[in-house]
Amino acid sequence: MRAEILSIGDELISGQTINRNAAWLGEQLQTVGADCRRHLTVGDNLDEIVEAMRASARGSDLLLISGGLGPTDDDLTRRALAVAMHEELVFDPAAFADIESFFSRLGRPMPDVNRVQAMRPASAKCIPNAQGTAPGLAAQWGKCRVFALPGVPREMKAMFQAAVVAELEGRSGGSVVRIRKINTFGAGESWVGDKIKDLMQRGANPTVGTSVHDGVVSVRIYARGRPEEAEAMLGRTTRRIGERLGDLIFSFDEQTMEQVVGTLLLEKRQTVATAESCTGGLLSQLLTSIPGSSAFFGGGWITYSTTLKQSELGIPESLLQSAGAVSAEVAAEMAGAARRNAASDWALAVTGIAGPDGGSAEKPVGLVYIALANAKGCDARRFIFSGGREQVRLRAGQMAMTMLRLSLANLKFEDVVPG
Ligand code: ATP
Ligand code: MG
Repeated sequence: MRAEILSIGDELISGQTINRNAAWLGEQLQTVGADCRRHLTVGDNLDEIVEAMRASARGSDLLLISGGLGPTDDDLTRRALAVAMHEELVFDPAAFADIESFFSRLGRPMPDVNRVQAMRPASAKCIPNAQGTAPGLAAQWGKCRVFALPGVPREMKAMFQAAVVAELEGRSGGSVVRIRKINTFGAGESWVGDKIKDLMQRGANPTVGTSVHDGVVSVRIYARGRPEEAEAMLGRTTRRIGERLGDLIFSFDEQTMEQVVGTLLLEKRQTVATAESCTGGLLSQLLTSIPGSSAFFGGGWITYSTTLKQSELGIPESLLQSAGAVSAEVAAEMAGAARRNAASDWALAVTGIAGPDGGSAEKPVGLVYIALANAKGCDARRFIFSGGREQVRLRAGQMAMTMLRLSLANLKFEDVVPG
């Protein structure tokens, strides 16, 4: 099934709104096994929309349109589709009744302008909108099936799921695409890619590819087939990738590192505290982003200055001078002090140079020491993270959590993370 996505709206062209609808629809098309060929975006101009509709429908089996179904003058999708299909716009009494009842549920009179939302090309059908006033449209235009959905993302998604997805699954001859994301942290994308090179052939089924986001290297598997077949392929390929990447894998799909670490701490009924310098609280923020984090996180210290490192954590001035604030020794002292002060099972400390200034030949921008302390002792490690200030800080936070994750799983850092 050849498909295209057409997004309509001046605010998309000007960059005021990021076209997330097209991204979301693109992903949905993949999961139903449709072959999405092109995304087009046009502004609120009748001629442009008509031309784009014709270009997108030509040679396609499916056209998904989003936006421009509202009641105002710049909402042109209904009219444009009628013009493009050479049809009359007709009034749909049932759609009108739906719009009226939407307003009466809100206890408000229906403004006159909303009447145009009950118009449709003569051969099209209106799709009810459970979340708003704008009905969608479904039409058969030659061999192309057309769905026009609202621009408001919440309404668009609800309508797609309620009125479109089942039909598309039926049309794809029972073939679907199942997707799994395998998330790793600690090795570069090329290292990960190299380990699974033989699985990454273009055009293969399943298709395997890598991507990076905030230092997290994810492997995506796309398996196409009948639902059970696709599931089985996904399972087999996941196992093969698991054998190659081992404990570098921290989660699947949308599960984050902080969720994984939080779950491990909860399971083991253990607690962690933090002492942060260059991450300025980011690590604590990540750890507390999980509901119920108070069960494993008592608090932390943001000691950005050497003065506060001394007064809050008791780091000796002599050590700060001899080793420097960015050093393994200071990181270890910070972690030890945080653990004692918080009376926690674990403590993580981060000190480094996030940049862009402050680097030297000996201590370059991106240099970060991370220490993990528990009752048995302290492990302090040196890292050099690439990227700008934000990336360095995020990677330091992820790496700190990785050290804790591996220790909680009784794994040795060197055995998992390549040097
Ligand atoms: P309305 O009844 O609200 O006018 P509509 O179907 O006419 O709905 P638009 O006017 O095109 O939709 O868009 C409404 C709002 O939805 C936009 O202001 C924007 O915030 C959001 N939106 C529209 N298109 C997109 C898109 N492609 N991606 C993300 N958000 C979008
Ligand atoms: Mg609108």
